[in-house]
Order: sequence, then C-alpha cells, then structure tokens
Amino acid sequence: MEQIKPSQTIEDYLSLFYVLERDDEPVIGARLAELLGVSAPTVTNTLKRMARDGLITMNENGTHLTEQGWQLARDVMRRHMLMEWMMLKMLPWSKLHGEAHSLEHAISPEAEAAIYEELGRPQTCPHGNPLPGFEEAVAEWVPLTQIPSGAVVTIRRIHELAEENRELLAFLEEKGILPRVQVTQGEILPFNQTITILVKDQPVTLGFAVAKYIFVETD
Ligand SMILES: [Zn+2]
Ligand SMILES: [Zn+2]
Repeated sequence: MEQIKPSQTIEDYLSLFYVLERDDEPVIGARLAELLGVSAPTVTNTLKRMARDGLITMNENGTHLTEQGWQLARDVMRRHMLMEWMMLKMLPWSKLHGEAHSLEHAISPEAEAAIYEELGRPQTCPHGNPLPGFEEAVAEWVPLTQIPSGAVVTIRRIHELAEENRELLAFLEEKGILPRVQVTQGEILPFNQTITILVKDQPVTLGFAVAKYIFVETD
C-alpha cells in the first residue's frame, strides 16, 4: 500500500505520542502544547487533522495512536535516534537531540538501514533511550528518585521527555551527569522535592521533576 509521508509537524507529534503511549502516560492536549512549545488551539487543530488522516483516534477513551500512526511513529523515533548517534563525534551531547530533530525527517529507508548497520545495531540512543522494539534493554534501570541515600549507581538514561529541554541537557552535560557515569545518591529532601547527588565528589542538587527522568543501574 502506498503511504503518504507525514509532514515534519505531524512527525514531531507522532514521536511525542509514541513516548507517552509507550510509557502508559495519557496524551493530553495541554501537555502536548507544553512539550511542543505551541498554543493549545494549534494542538487541537493538528490533532483533528491527524484523526482525519487515520493516525490517531479521539473519543471517550482518550487520544491514542492508530496502528498506522504507531508504525509511523516508530519509524520517526528510530530515524531520530540513529541521527543522534551519527553526530555524536561531531557535536556536544546536549545538542544531538535538537540536530537530530531536523535530520530525522529527511533520511530514506535505505540510508536508515545502512546507518543502523554502520553504527553496530544500537539498542539505545546516546541518551540511553530505547530504539523502538528494544524496550527490554532499559527495563531494569530505575529513576534516581527511587534510589536510597548512600547508594552508588551508574547513570544509564536521560528520558526522551527530558531530551526536549535543551537547557536541562546543557546543564546535565556541564555537570557531567551523562550515561555511563557513576554517581552517589546524597541527601533526599521530600519536603523540598530535591535530591543531591555526588558527581566526581561534587554535589549537584536536582528537583524530583528532573530526577525522575534520570534512570540509573544499581549493582
Ligand atoms: Zn532525541
Ligand atoms: Zn536521544
């Protein structure tokens, strides 16, 4: 069946839908507006178009990808993550996501397959997020918010929704909070919604809202 390639805007929506649905998070217009940096009416109009084109369904059960939407979303995510790897040696880690965001819409299936092989068939992106179909690879990693004080852990993953925040990525990179880095959990202050971790003996304080997106491996 001949399939029309969705526009760049639609592909951006599809990748967010993919992440939210994969994580069993509800897809809510206001959340999409916030993540995409657009107005709520813009989101509503785009969702209507997506429903008309058979990519999503909207009813009393909420807003969900159709099978066709899900497949297209997986394709966009995979291309995005491969593009991040492609530029890893050339750009700062915190800029990979933004650049891949532009490139992900352009590459052909043939180029995509070749890049995947050339990269050695990665199971995650450079931020530790799973390529579609490789969710098992990250299943054991837990959010920093669940780690007790004093535990030594290895950072493995910065969640896709945190990737959307460029300032946050730059901060994490500057502080050395990156995949494969070992850190020690320090003080946890629930009333303040903060944790402090030790990165190479340097304390870094994070809010729960950020810490829940940083996944670590415990030994
Ligand atoms: Zn990304
Ligand atoms: Zn990534």
